[in-house]
Amino acid sequence: MMKEYIEEAEAALLHTYNRYPVVFDHGDGVRLYDIEGKEYLDFVAGISVFAFGYNNKEYNDALKSQIDKIIHTSNYYYNVPAIEAAKKLKKASGLDRVFFTNSGAEAIEGAIKTARKYAFLKDGKTDHEIIAMNHSFHGRTMGALSITGNPHYREAFEPGIGNIKFADMNDFESVKSQVTDKTCAIIFETVQGEGGIHPATEDFLKKVRALCDEKDILLILDEIQCGMGRTGYMFAWQKYGVKPDVMTVAKAIGCGVPVGAFLMTEKVGQNSLVAGDHGTTYGGNPLAAAAVSKVLDLFEETNVIENVKETGAYLFDELEKIASERDDIVGHRGLGFLQGLEFNHPVGDIINSALQKGLVLINAGSNIIRFVPPLVVTKADVDEMIGILKACL
Ligand SMILES: *Cc1c(COP(=O)(O)O)cnc(C)c1O
Repeated sequence: MMKEYIEEAEAALLHTYNRYPVVFDHGDGVRLYDIEGKEYLDFVAGISVFAFGYNNKEYNDALKSQIDKIIHTSNYYYNVPAIEAAKKLKKASGLDRVFFTNSGAEAIEGAIKTARKYAFLKDGKTDHEIIAMNHSFHGRTMGALSITGNPHYREAFEPGIGNIKFADMNDFESVKSQVTDKTCAIIFETVQGEGGIHPATEDFLKKVRALCDEKDILLILDEIQCGMGRTGYMFAWQKYGVKPDVMTVAKAIGCGVPVGAFLMTEKVGQNSLVAGDHGTTYGGNPLAAAAVSKVLDLFEETNVIENVKETGAYLFDELEKIASERDDIVGHRGLGFLQGLEFNHPVGDIINSALQKGLVLINAGSNIIRFVPPLVVTKADVDEMIGILKACL
């Protein structure tokens, strides 16, 4: 049965993914079930999305009741779920203005436009530059791709949006040396995800923040993957007491409903995008906003972030043990439930064999296994995962 579906998929869908050979049907908590009824322990969470696991009753009920009221109106009218979601996002982040998007890449596009407009209003010029990081990942649309520091992703699609410079994460001098009078923004992921699970150091964050303050450059932090509790803090930068001027979120902010947002300080909000500058049909529609609103309630009402701190540390220790036992593991990095094990060879075979044994894992680049489970996994789940992983190595 599964085989036929996979053949149909390969005949109908564009070949932009090398998919693993499984057709998932439903999920419950931290378990996924394929269409033949086989159970899997999930350490991917739809890539950093399902923070509270699958089939969360409170979340599902909130969406169902919103569906029965209204799913969509238009951003030319107000709707209560979007107002509630925006208020809660402001409270969680300490930022002041919210624009809802439909995806992470769109949140990045909005952040880029915000930075360009902010600089344009200061000097009337249109040649402003953005500094991004090598090994970064910000999405697949043209603007987001242009600031993604993996030349392989960009090559066939050049030219990008232009005036982008790349520096090295955690190398402050490499950032500083690229700054000119034209620099309007410095952007990076507080913890690089796709590019290999590289957390920004506190020293780097603080120095870049100070540089941005000195030169009135916007600091944009991409929290699409590392935000929403995943590092043991609601947003990863909160660990360091360094606040961005603009922040992007997506993935777990909707926990399965396609939604993202870019947020900014009041100062940036008052000096950038105005009516007519930006818009989207679906962004922040009542259904998406109801999801965001309920997700933020769940973060407040549950001890999930405590669990990330505690069980994330446990996961770190357990992976550290494996790393110390094996010569082919050359790195182990990350925070909370965003960790990576780097091998000196591709990890595709390990991931396939884990899948056969009922464990869902994902890579980050070819040589790194990324561990991004639902934030509600327990120590027993970690033990089970480690057992299967060891059997696959
Ligand atoms: C996933 C991701 C994006 C892109 O989000 P999409 O919703 O896939 O467009 C951007 N930045 C980071 C850090 C991501 O992990």
